Amino acid sequence: MSPQPLYSRVLLKVSGEALMGEGQYGIDVDTVGRIAGEIKQATDAGIQVCLVIGGGNIFRGLSGAAKGMERASADYMGMLATVMNALAMQQSLESIGVPTRVQSAIPMMTVCEPYIRRRAVRHMEKGRVVIFAAGTGNPFFTTDTAAALRAVEMGCDALLKGTQVDGVYSADPHKVANAERYDRLTYMDVLSRDLKVMDASAISLARENGIPIIVYSIDDARLRQRSDGYRPLHHHLGRGLISPDRRQKRPEGQEMADTDFDLDDVERRMRGALQALKQEFGGLRTGRASASLLEPIVVEAYGQSMPINQVGTIGVPEPRMLTVQVWDKGMVSAVEKAIRNSGLGLNPNIDGTLIRLPIPELNQERRAELSKIAAKYTEQARVAVRNVRRDAMDELKRLEKDAHMGQDDHKAWTDKVQKLTDKIVAEIDAALAHKEAEIMQV
Ligand code: UDP
Repeated sequence: MSPQPLYSRVLLKVSGEALMGEGQYGIDVDTVGRIAGEIKQATDAGIQVCLVIGGGNIFRGLSGAAKGMERASADYMGMLATVMNALAMQQSLESIGVPTRVQSAIPMMTVCEPYIRRRAVRHMEKGRVVIFAAGTGNPFFTTDTAAALRAVEMGCDALLKGTQVDGVYSADPHKVANAERYDRLTYMDVLSRDLKVMDASAISLARENGIPIIVYSIDDARLRQRSDGYRPLHHHLGRGLISPDRRQKRPEGQEMADTDFDLDDVERRMRGALQALKQEFGGLRTGRASASLLEPIVVEAYGQSMPINQVGTIGVPEPRMLTVQVWDKGMVSAVEKAIRNSGLGLNPNIDGTLIRLPIPELNQERRAELSKIAAKYTEQARVAVRNVRRDAMDELKRLEKDAHMGQDDHKAWTDKVQKLTDKIVAEIDAALAHKEAEIMQV
């Protein structure tokens, strides 16, 4: 019986080389089919899966650069290789009834969707496997970094890295017979021992965001023949390998007993409330032009819905004027329509591919109304911060009661939580004062 899945959403990194099968180059359709079968088992178990596919089976930027090509061009070729692999995987998954979408970090509208984070999340919620192609879209990166980045963006519970071996070893076990296999590692172990499991930027991203990395063998024929080695993908969803090491995250400058208390997490949650408030403020149209006003607008074009900032550049040339420089002439009227239908009360003025949006002045009544709304949002943010504070204090009490924390430490942490609360509440008040001034500005 397979273990109960621990994770509800995972990102699977499949290297290009895993698709070669026994070959030395390119795509082996049977191997792709077997990997697709494993992915289907995971989705059948109710796990939301997204994939980042590498391109090393076709082209690697570094090898091109080593032969004298310009590195950036070679890297773009590498990224295009990942798109081919992504299409092969899409085909294979769909042929066994798994719905998929390919999203490319380099837009290529006639081949697949462009990468749009919120859309990708929606696809996964609907049970589709999203395949991320073209890495990060930037040269000088790897698809490992793309995998860590997308895993963070998608809010994945874990990143699974499929490799040719069944875990992390001190050396390549196919070459060195007595290579040691590590059962569990911290991110710092990987970085400090320079273990070649994923590159350092990928590990750092996972570490900063507390995403566990599970290294497992992806359809390796050699391991299949060993009774103890090979386990299919869904068997790995019950255990982590490289995982957050809270001891690494102790607050700087003060030596404290080892506890499970995570002040960074408290701060992250409090800042989340402040961030949400700022977003809500951004959506309140005052007499002053702000680019964030247009951000929620979605444009329908070529059968796709795209956020407005992916079809043009938003500008604020004057305090009472917004502009949208639309990149594609054919999309101007779609953008105009989206702005008119946005309920923001704006009146687009078209000049070729430039759309001007004068911001009308507010009357007294509207100003008073906006002030009230801003105050209400602010109160909600304060309540959210107080709730986080209360949770943290409860947690500290529990740690002290269960003798995981001494009295002195308890007092030191409590002071820190209080100071943090005061700081964030002050920032919330400052944000309100700033918004108020904007509302009242004539
Ligand atoms: N690449 C890139 N930027 C990225 C991801 C990939 O430039 O964000 C290029 C880079 O040249 C790399 C190639 O795409 O060598 C293929 O990706 P990678 O080597 O990571 O694939 P894998 O080793 O997983 O097959």
